[in-house]
Amino acid sequence: MTTYSLAIHGGAGTILRSTMTPEREAAYRAGLARALEAGEAVLRDGGAALDAVVASVSALEDEPLFNAGRGAVFTSAGAQEMDAAVMDGRDRNAGAVAGIFGPKNPVQVARAVMERTDHVMLIGLGALEIARAAGLPFGDKAYFFTQPRWDALQKTLAMRAAGEDDDDPARRHGTVGAVARDMSGNLAAATSTGGMTAKAPGRVGDSPVIGAGTFADNATCAVSGTGHGEIFIRWNAGAEIAARMRHAGQSLEEAARHVVMEDLARHDGTGGVIAVDGAGNLALPFNCEGMYRASVRAGEAPLVAIY
Ligand code: ASP
Repeated sequence: MTTYSLAIHGGAGTILRSTMTPEREAAYRAGLARALEAGEAVLRDGGAALDAVVASVSALEDEPLFNAGRGAVFTSAGAQEMDAAVMDGRDRNAGAVAGIFGPKNPVQVARAVMERTDHVMLIGLGALEIARAAGLPFGDKAYFFTQPRWDALQKTLAMRAAGEDDDDPARRHGTVGAVARDMSGNLAAATSTGGMTAKAPGRVGDSPVIGAGTFADNATCAVSGTGHGEIFIRWNAGAEIAARMRHAGQSLEEAARHVVMEDLARHDGTGGVIAVDGAGNLALPFNCEGMYRASVRAGEAPLVAIY
């Protein structure tokens, strides 16, 4: 049977229902629907899961509403430092970049690292060099700047100075990602993020860490995470879901739920994951108020949801 599945996310714990307006909600839903369609178009034509996840994540990076690429959050020093990764479930080939500023689509730089070098992760000038060699587009400060992200930084810094806890995930969180199973049965995952608002300069989250925020292996599943990156790294979120399937015989749904609702939730790891297995089953668990997400399977109507 030829079938395909695709799921995307635009971050978890994001907008509190109490502060959402119908206009904002419509804009988020439209952005998700466009990104889902970008990936589904690839799969529908018989394209590869890897191409589909890069297409969807690139579309989300281009959308200023989401915290990745254009619209990335600011560090405590007022800069933007982006992380991204891709992984191919066929052979566990992977590419990642961390802390970069300049390329409009960090996910495409991650793919270039995978395809054009012998390495998995590049940072700094080396990563930018690969992006240039691959002919990828760059943006300037004005391209990446968004007023709401800047305002969120000012608010977070003011709260820090006043010794108050910033418990509004809308200010802290965000990331975009995609997982897919293509008609040939291959899996892939991609994740891209600006990280967390007011993060320390140089801080790297889980998104580019293979096995934490991004993972894909045809033998088990493809996973992309969003949430409190330090906890996703320490609990090895993506690889743990795959390990539960591989060693404990759990279904994708059981394994993903356990990691998100127990391992992460019990250790202050707010967030969620999107995941797909070799049969095309999807799981999208999250342990916070919402996760921008959308999914589609061959022959079915697309689903777009926030809460
Ligand atoms: N996981 C991302 C990070 O820690 C942020 C997020 O998904 O909200 O960098």
